[in-house]
Amino acid sequence: APENLYGLLQSRSQDRDEQVFLEVPNGRNWTYGQAHQHAARLAGLLRQLGVQPGDRVAVQVDKSPEAICLYLACLRAGAVFLPLNTAYMRTELEYFLHDAEPSLAVVRPAGEETLRELAEAKGGTRVETLDANGGGSLMRTLSEQAPEPLPPHPVSRDDLACILYTSGTTGRPKGAMLSHGNLAANALALEEAWGWRQDDVLIHALPIFHVHGLFVAMHCAMMGASKVYFLPRFDADQVLQLLPRATVLMGVPTFYTRLLQQPELNPELCRNMRLFISGSAPLLEETFQQWYERTGHPILERYGMTETGMNISNPLEGERRPGTVGFPLPGVEVRIVDTEGHELPPGEVGSLQVKGPNVFSGYWRLPEKTAEEFTDDGYFITGDMATVSEDGYYAIVGRAKDLVITGGYNVYPKEVEGFIDGLDGVRESAVIGLPHPDFGEQVAAVVVPEKAGPKLDEAAVIHQLKGELAGYKVPKAVFFVDELPRNAMGKVQKNVLREQYTR
Ligand code: ATP
Ligand code: MG
Repeated sequence: APENLYGLLQSRSQDRDEQVFLEVPNGRNWTYGQAHQHAARLAGLLRQLGVQPGDRVAVQVDKSPEAICLYLACLRAGAVFLPLNTAYMRTELEYFLHDAEPSLAVVRPAGEETLRELAEAKGGTRVETLDANGGGSLMRTLSEQAPEPLPPHPVSRDDLACILYTSGTTGRPKGAMLSHGNLAANALALEEAWGWRQDDVLIHALPIFHVHGLFVAMHCAMMGASKVYFLPRFDADQVLQLLPRATVLMGVPTFYTRLLQQPELNPELCRNMRLFISGSAPLLEETFQQWYERTGHPILERYGMTETGMNISNPLEGERRPGTVGFPLPGVEVRIVDTEGHELPPGEVGSLQVKGPNVFSGYWRLPEKTAEEFTDDGYFITGDMATVSEDGYYAIVGRAKDLVITGGYNVYPKEVEGFIDGLDGVRESAVIGLPHPDFGEQVAAVVVPEKAGPKLDEAAVIHQLKGELAGYKVPKAVFFVDELPRNAMGKVQKNVLREQYTR
């Protein structure tokens, strides 16, 4: 079944059964051959358990090779893989269960009781368990039932492969419906753009319930039939130890800032590395520069989202420009428009829209929300604000929802944050809009001071910014915190800040 994404992913490791696929710390290594065999038998089991093509399989488990095999098994079986953030608790799970109506849910043993209760109340969902070491009822049932391997189910490009919930940075997570064709198109585009090779060795320290860790990282590795150091979570020491034996690291910006705090980081450790990739949240130019000074490597920043996969990327060859996300990927059309939908010239800030074979078909069971987010000519409205330079480099300026409108003036938080971050004694900052009776909103800053830096207070921050920025952009209030609230992907949760400081 050539249209099944599984077929594409498997094609690259066809005659390389012995090649190591997943290397787990202190654990058993999985070869490509073993993973495909396991996925084939698991797919057979899914069928025996009554999972039909198109059925959802909800998966809330720790990172393990078996969890990856379960993903592959769902593709093979034509079932819809639906990974869930391991942080979700009872009420959240109840929502997902009712929203997605999976015929099978696979959870950690610790979550079994809760899920059984919810599943019994709702009906129609079978519950199995899988732990971080591959133990649990799912694999037990697999050995008991000894199903025949299931060949990849014939699907069409538009058939659903996954429902992936967005990170929930701006509100309740939405289930993005991604087809076999969407995911295949993006895997091919990234293989080409980043020059994925058989001798690549990827350090994988991301969670596997989001697009970054599951699709970008795993699909690229499989397209190269490359080896993956499959880490349960990000650990700076562990990553440093693996660097000399790796060629690619994919991370969120916080990976890089944490690695920079390690005194051992040096070019020698990175001697085999060819590519450091960053995404999911903005990479500070300062981080880019420091990384370049400490390792000799310019980080490749790219831009994407759950609904579309990757859209824009700095180049493999040629200048990687800090503060930008580079050029549209092969096959992806990108434009920046004003509020009336007219395309804007370079240098101007507007709403970023994308179109291409990678773009999802809509939000699961939210037809109205879906309709709102697409233009009449089929572009997806990303919700991000961006600008493009004369020579074609795109830069993400922030989220439309985070734009502060004060007294009729637009303030892009990122611009103000850039100035605040440059002040002596500031580690990082988040600029938000708070309700204001006269201005609609007022600009406020939440600042994380440097631990050993000079003492800062509200008046000093405001005073220093006054000479640098137009008056309406200068924060009217400054709050100090030890740490900004972030979600699993390292994104600052501005909605949490807005709620906290609105009173
Ligand atoms: P939700 O849609 O539920 O509010 P979310 O948008 O954070 O959450 P994701 O789909 O995981 O969920 O993240 C996509 C968003 O991440 C993009 O819309 C963009 O705002 C941000 N992003 C991704 N890469 C970059 C980048 N390189 N620079 C700046 N922002 C980025
Ligand atoms: Mg989003």
